[in-house]
Amino acid sequence: MRLKNRLALITGGGRGIGRAIALAFAREGASVAVAARTRAQVESVANEIASACSVQTLAIECDVADAESVHRALESAQEKFGRGPDILVNNAGIVETAPFMKTDEAMWQRHLAVNLTGAFHWTRAALPAMLERGWGRIINVASIAGKTGAPYISAYAASKHGVLGLTRSLALEVAASGITVNAICPGYVDTEMTSRGIENIVAKTGTSAEDALAAIKKMSPQNRLVTAEEVAGLAVLLASEEGRGINGQAINVDGGTVLF
Ligand code: NAD
Repeated sequence: MRLKNRLALITGGGRGIGRAIALAFAREGASVAVAARTRAQVESVANEIASACSVQTLAIECDVADAESVHRALESAQEKFGRGPDILVNNAGIVETAPFMKTDEAMWQRHLAVNLTGAFHWTRAALPAMLERGWGRIINVASIAGKTGAPYISAYAASKHGVLGLTRSLALEVAASGITVNAICPGYVDTEMTSRGIENIVAKTGTSAEDALAAIKKMSPQNRLVTAEEVAGLAVLLASEEGRGINGQAINVDGGTVLF
């Protein structure tokens, strides 16, 4: 039980990578608050945890792009657990694709608001209690698109590059306070986000779903999608005591697609 007596809060925890991290943390003994926009999804994950693990859980409806909503969500976690989270996972994210000249200001701002400012809001909310306790873990789920570029994802890639800048700077600022700040950079993961991407390719290019999936898999030297559980495995290490020497890093889980 590597996370016994810890309290973790995971944004975007209602499905996909966030759900897998919430379940993995609970199996390691952490109490878990799951925060996302869709109440039914966060409640279902909280129930799943409650029936599989003997830890406390809380489902919180929260829009990470809205500072007031984040503030209220933190208050409800504090009410239930008597304190703020020891481990914060900024996982909530969105992706939309478009050629650059069709990336209008609204689309650009949506990506920054959720993927980057969302992490800023939650980190500002959770950090003071971590500093007071002299222990904390902040894990930002970025992407290999935070390190490289690709056509049609300029807004997404810019937001994820921003997440790495936030991660690295804050990691140095709090390095002597018992807190680590790291980013996980997945390649294509087998979640709803990727299925929606495939549907989009099919709709825009007329290619078959099988061919679109095969092309995505081929981007990895392992010729496969990563699983959400593999991403969660790294999150557990970063959240644990054993992970205390890992700070300011952006670690790829992508089968070797990106080598820096
Ligand atoms: P997903 O679409 O299945 O889940 C995203 C989650 O974020 C959902 O629970 C959704 O409700 C939540 N969310 C979105 N906007 C929100 C908001 N404003 N406030 C609160 N919650 C919000 O996607 P996923 O694949 O599980 O992705 C999780 C993270 O991993 C994202 O940050 C994504 O960019 C990143 N990522 C995913 C992949 C991939 O291939 N799936 C690859 C690299 C990085």
